[in-house]
Amino acid sequence: MLYKSTRGQVEPVSFKEVLFSGLASDGGLYIPEYFPVFDPGQISSFESMTYEEVSFSILKPFVGHLFSDQELMNMIVNAYSQFKCEERCKMVSLSENHKLLELFHGPTFAFKDFAMQMIAQMFNQALKKIRKSITIIVATSGDTGAAAVNAFSNLEFINLYVLFPKNRISEIQRRQMTTKKASNVSVISVNGNFDDCQSIVKSIFSDQDFSGKISLTGVNSINWARIISQVVYYFFAASRLASDATLDFCVPTGNFGNIYAGYVAKKLGANIDKLIIATNQNDILHRALSSGQYSKGEVFKTFSPSMDIQVSSNFERMLHDACRGNSSIVHDKMRSLQSSGSYNIDSDTLRCLKKDFVSGSVKEQETLDEIRKTFLNTKTIVCPHTAVGLRVSKKFLDKAKITISLATAHPAKFGDAVEKAIDTDIILPKSLKALYSKEEKVVEAPNDVSYLKALIKREG
Ligand SMILES: *Cc1c(COP(=O)(O)O)cnc(C)c1O
Repeated sequence: MLYKSTRGQVEPVSFKEVLFSGLASDGGLYIPEYFPVFDPGQISSFESMTYEEVSFSILKPFVGHLFSDQELMNMIVNAYSQFKCEERCKMVSLSENHKLLELFHGPTFAFKDFAMQMIAQMFNQALKKIRKSITIIVATSGDTGAAAVNAFSNLEFINLYVLFPKNRISEIQRRQMTTKKASNVSVISVNGNFDDCQSIVKSIFSDQDFSGKISLTGVNSINWARIISQVVYYFFAASRLASDATLDFCVPTGNFGNIYAGYVAKKLGANIDKLIIATNQNDILHRALSSGQYSKGEVFKTFSPSMDIQVSSNFERMLHDACRGNSSIVHDKMRSLQSSGSYNIDSDTLRCLKKDFVSGSVKEQETLDEIRKTFLNTKTIVCPHTAVGLRVSKKFLDKAKITISLATAHPAKFGDAVEKAIDTDIILPKSLKALYSKEEKVVEAPNDVSYLKALIKREG
C-alpha cells in the first residue's frame, strides 16, 4: 500500500514515511492510493473476534511490510493492555434504536488513547529495528497531551515534550501529565494560551536545521496512523449489532479526525449510512455543510474544550474525496483558506458530502440541558462533548436504523461542567483519584521559542 498527498504534488510514499512525517512536503495530508474493500464474509467474521483481532484485520493492509504479522499482533496487544474494559469499548443502550459507544476506558479516559497507544507501539517497534531515537513535540489543550504522556512514557527510542498553556487546562488533565515522571518525557507549562503553544511547536518544526538535528516527529490527529487505528472501533461496534441493521454514527467533532475514521470505515465496507457531525458553538463544519462556505470564525471557549477549534485539519481529506480526487482543486481551496480564511464548496462537491454527512451545532445551555436530560432519563452521566453529540443525534433518530453516538471522554474529566448541569458529585475512578496524592513534575517556561529550543537542546 502506497500513500499520496491530498494536494497531489509528491511522489507516493510507504507507510513508514507516512508514520514518521505526518504532513506531506507539499503541505497536504497523506491518504492511501486506494481503499481496499473488505468482503462481507470477512466483515461478518468480526462478530466472533476480540477487539485486538479486529484491529489486526483492519490495520494489516495499511501498514505494508513495515511489521511482520507477529510484530503487528504483539503491538496491538500491548497498545490495549491498559484498557479497563475487556471489550476495549463498551456499548450502552439509551433506547431501542439509540446506543452510546463508550470510548473512554483507556488509561487517560478519552478516546484519544485508542490511536495514541497504537501509534506509540508503531514508532517504538520501527525505531527499535534501526536503533534510532526521535523527538516528539506536542501542544495540547488537555486530552492529547495526557494520552501522549501515557503512551510514550519509558519508550526507549522516543523523547517527548508536551507544551500546555499554564492555568488553562483542568487540574485532572494537568495531573495526568505531570505525575507520570518518566525520564524520556518533559511536561512544560507555557506562560501563554493554547494558540501560543501551537505556534511555538509550528515554529520549531519549520526550523529545518534544528528539527533535523533532533529528528522531530509529529503525533497530532492528521497522522494517518492515528486515523486508521480509529477505524477499528466503527467495525467493532457494527459487529456487535445485527448484521442487517443500517447504522448512523454521531460524532462530537473538532479536528474531523474521529468522524473521518468513520467515513473510512464506510469506504472499507462497514454498513454505515449517515455520519452525523456534531459541533459546539465552534460550528465551522455545520456552517460549511449548510451554506457551502467554509469560513474561519473566532474561537469560542465552551464547556466542551476539546472541540474548541475553528479549522478542522482532517476535513481536507474528506474534501479530496468529495472533489472526486481532484488534488488541484484541493490545493486551490487550501491556498484560499490560508490567504483569506475561507473557501467555497461548489454545489456538486456539496451534494457529494451530503450523501454521507449531516450536521448540527449545539449552544452552551443546550449542552448542559442534554447532560441533565440524559441523566434523568437513563441514569447515565455523560461528558459535555458526548452531550453535544447526543443533542444533535436526537434530531436525526430514525426508527428504521440504529444510531450510535460516540462517548468521547469520561464525565469525571470535565467534572465542573457536569456538576453545573446535574446536582450530583461525580465519583472519580480510582486511578484519577490517585492523581491527587502524587507529586507533580513540571517545567515552567516563558512564551518564547528560543527558550524552548535551548531547553530541548540541553536535555536531548
Ligand atoms: C479530541 C476530542 C474530540 C474531537 O475529536 P476530533 O477527532 O478532533 O474531531 C471530541 N471529544 C473529546 C473528548 C476529545 O478529546
